[in-house]
Amino acid sequence: MKNKGSKLIIVSAPSGCGKGTIMKAVFNDSDVFYSVSCTTRPPRPEDTDGVTYHFLTVEEFEEKIAEGEFLEYAKYSENYYGTPKTPVEKNMAEGRDVILEIETQGAFQVKELRPDAVSLFILPPSVAELDRRLHKRGTEDEKTIKKRVSQAAGEIAKADRYDYVIMNDDLDAAIADFRAVIDGIKGDTEPAVRFSPENEEVKKMIEEVLKNA
Ligand code: ADP
Ligand code: 5GP
Repeated sequence: MKNKGSKLIIVSAPSGCGKGTIMKAVFNDSDVFYSVSCTTRPPRPEDTDGVTYHFLTVEEFEEKIAEGEFLEYAKYSENYYGTPKTPVEKNMAEGRDVILEIETQGAFQVKELRPDAVSLFILPPSVAELDRRLHKRGTEDEKTIKKRVSQAAGEIAKADRYDYVIMNDDLDAAIADFRAVIDGIKGDTEPAVRFSPENEEVKKMIEEVLKNA
């Protein structure tokens, strides 16, 4: 059952779904390498350059694209986001698991390039709840929140293309489910197939969220 070797793990969720909150709880004190992305979006008060993101100008970002420095990149809400290739390769070569917290377009690019990567999508209970969570977090203005919420249904519709899908309704349950998926990916336990979108219950869960989107 033990499936050693470093793993490339992709985590996606609509903005405000709670992926940051869940990952902080699960990967605190863990030896995984959390890939720091580059972005052209403006920093928020809680952002630290080089820690939460590498903040670049559009010119700087486009220069890196031209130089082939990204494993993947995408435009999301009118800003560029991209995963620097070198730190991912270096950490994997050193035997560490690597986590990419990226949106759906980037996730599919990575899956093309690296079919061994394993992907996980976190569903919100509803799009209305996403809207509430983004307002509660209070880090974006109204226009940005509207744009992010309006993109959510399109992202959720792609959840069935991920290897695993969990729901973040009750936070403690979501943290436990996330851990179960990660332990299975790492080979510490059997793969958590109950979270596969092939599973009828998971299919229904995605349909329910989309019905109310
Ligand atoms: P993301 O990283 O996906 O954009 P965050 O982790 O920043 O989302 O969470 C968005 C907001 O929702 C935060 O204020 C967070 O405290 C809250 N939140 C996260 N999970 C839950 C949950 N299960 N129930 C209620 N609120 C939640
Ligand atoms: P935020 O602006 O809220 O930090 O991120 C917006 C979206 O961009 C989120 O869905 C986040 O997962 C995604 N994202 C962050 N970094 C990257 C990246 O390097 N590549 C891609 N494709 N998406 C990213």
